Amino acid sequence: MEDHIFHQEESPSSPHVVIFPLPIQGPINCMLKLAHLILYSSQSTISVTFLTTDFIRRRLDLNSTFRSVTTTNYGPHIRFETVPDLVGPDEDPRGSRHVAELTRFMEDQAKAEGSRLREVLAYGSTEAELKKPVTCIIADGLYGCMADVAQELRLPLVYMETISPCGLWTYICLPNMLQAGELPFQGKEDLDAAITSVPGMETYLRRCDLPSFCRAYDPNNPVIKLILNEAKNFPRAQGHIFNTFDKLEGDYFPHIQASCPNLYNIGPLHLNLKCRMIQHKATNSYSNSLWLEDRSCLEWLDAQPPKSVLFVSIGSIAVMTWDQLMEFWYGLVNSKTRFLWVRRPCLIIGLSDEEVESRALGVAEEVLVGTKERGCIVSWAPQEEVLAHEAIGGFLTHSGWNSTLESIVEGVPMICWPCLADQQANSRLVSKVWKNGLDMKDSCNRVVVEEMIKELMETKRDELLVRANEMAKLAAEAVAKGGSSYNDLNRLLNDIKLMKFQTPCSE
Ligand code: UDP
Repeated sequence: MEDHIFHQEESPSSPHVVIFPLPIQGPINCMLKLAHLILYSSQSTISVTFLTTDFIRRRLDLNSTFRSVTTTNYGPHIRFETVPDLVGPDEDPRGSRHVAELTRFMEDQAKAEGSRLREVLAYGSTEAELKKPVTCIIADGLYGCMADVAQELRLPLVYMETISPCGLWTYICLPNMLQAGELPFQGKEDLDAAITSVPGMETYLRRCDLPSFCRAYDPNNPVIKLILNEAKNFPRAQGHIFNTFDKLEGDYFPHIQASCPNLYNIGPLHLNLKCRMIQHKATNSYSNSLWLEDRSCLEWLDAQPPKSVLFVSIGSIAVMTWDQLMEFWYGLVNSKTRFLWVRRPCLIIGLSDEEVESRALGVAEEVLVGTKERGCIVSWAPQEEVLAHEAIGGFLTHSGWNSTLESIVEGVPMICWPCLADQQANSRLVSKVWKNGLDMKDSCNRVVVEEMIKELMETKRDELLVRANEMAKLAAEAVAKGGSSYNDLNRLLNDIKLMKFQTPCSE
């Protein structure tokens, strides 16, 4: 990936955004898309600095063979600025580190006066000749500390929410639930009990649809502390960018807006970017993957009948036990459906990748034969391209927000097996509100897996496809010229150009 310095003719006071994502796959993916969207749509009248870690930058280069980084129509591209990372050079990005630990590590640098990271937040660089005052910070919503940091730097702050609005709303309502006595759970075994203190979700939200950390609620849990801090600081930003579109959102959304009125719904980001690139006749293609994509699976898909393949992936962070992997494996093979399965590095709790590989060689003959006949296993796939392939008929997903939106855009019905964060809420909306998929939450048993796959791919296929196609159409309308996400993006760009630091009322 090349760095590009700013054009000489750029005025030092022209708009300059620094984008500051969490150093993990989901946020990196969508905030890089945001960076490209801003560049293409503003025709580079807004400069963009992408602030990440050395590790992430090295990882993004892995797939550069498939990416053409030609500077076509719009001159300077994203400038990357990096700071050291907690993760060592050979370590897997999610290997042993926890999201909370990574977030705190970045936050500590942002708070430290005189740190390199803070200098980049203020000037886009630490090198005198590259410095150009930043006019707006766009930070991941989980960096609660950025509300203070931006205030100290006297810079406008916009949060980018990389999780779903429905999931975020359950975070923001944690204090409500505590006050109402719905948290911690009384009678822990009843996970189907209704939750009534999350406004706008009263008719369908259950305990099991809340983030998994609610099941053993401990105020000292570092993730809970981060999230409470995020919720507290939510109203302090000048705006929030959501990767969603208006017609996807439900009754809870006006409540979010009541906490911070200035919201930009510019999703699905990847589709919005695709459309803007077409509009500007740009032909560059980008891969934001932190693992090397195995593109041979696209050839394998080419040889399969239309809508016959189930794509299986649980994203970049979620993990499973070996026993759960076996239940999935038997369920997949017994369903007799064709499948493309992503088994990424560091997927299995307590086993190295070598141990997983050697155990996998010893599984029952019928499983190996069924896999050879109907399956394809890769360690990382070009997921957006896979979901867009005509051979794909369904997606067994962990309900990460990017994956959910990518599936919605392609009209692919889902089986949801949520693990953490916003995924439990997302899967509830898929099955109960949007009705474009089935929720397999909390169940991992080969018979259930087989039955769900048969429902998705056979018995309920037509009704699910109708809904999935309707939603894909709504997503496409939102990003088309004049659509809600198209208009919100234009509003965001105009606002970035005019944005000034607003003195908080308390000053
Ligand atoms: N992804 C990918 N290849 C894979 C699996 C996942 O490119 O084999 C991408 C996927 O397209 C999505 C991101 O990784 O954009 C995962 O983000 P998501 O929010 O779905 O889940 P997370 O990994 O944050 O739990």
